[in-house]
Amino acid sequence: MAKVDIQKKVLSANDEIALKNREILNSKKVFTLNMLSSPGSGKTSVLEKTLDHFQGKKEIHVLVGDVQTDNDARRLQKYTSKAEQIITGGSCHLEAKAIGAYLERENLDSADILVIENVGNLVCPSSFDLGEHKRAVVLSVAEGDDKPKKYPAMFRNADVVILNKMDLLSMTNFNVEEAEKNIYDINPGLKIFRTSCTNGEGFTPWYDWLEACMMK
Ligand code: MG
Ligand code: ZN
Repeated sequence: MAKVDIQKKVLSANDEIALKNREILNSKKVFTLNMLSSPGSGKTSVLEKTLDHFQGKKEIHVLVGDVQTDNDARRLQKYTSKAEQIITGGSCHLEAKAIGAYLERENLDSADILVIENVGNLVCPSSFDLGEHKRAVVLSVAEGDDKPKKYPAMFRNADVVILNKMDLLSMTNFNVEEAEKNIYDINPGLKIFRTSCTNGEGFTPWYDWLEACMMK
């Protein structure tokens, strides 16, 4: 009982900061996306392609959360000067406080999009609102097609799913129809994009969706 109360308290303190973050992002008209997945599903690769596509057309800022290393931010810095790493030093998720601190120091006046690449983890990041507008979950076909069943909260709270590494499908026993059925069972309104960062398939609808979400 006491444990539940503490958890509730922590979440509401986070939610309060998230609310403020969202107000700031709304006032600056910066569409903000929280990207979530298990480790190794290809979040950073999807972002590399996305940054490359919008380079010179839209101003995209990226905040990357990892437990250790700034490897992912350095990968993204090849495409933008506006990618920054948050090293959580042990925490397996990002909290609104870290995004709030970033919003204080970063000038987002001309930004079109802020992407927050969360720590690779399908469990607790789903309970921490960061102040984002939408959530994208990346699921790769190298994982199990029952992941949505195992981690329902992650999919229930998402707006889109990127079904990634489609080029590897023939080498796996992943069943796309089964995975999509599992996803729609949890969240019928979810949008699914089937992508491959290797051959580039499926990215045009993803780019179109992002453009439609932009606020300026
Ligand atoms: Mg990454
Ligand atoms: Zn966590």
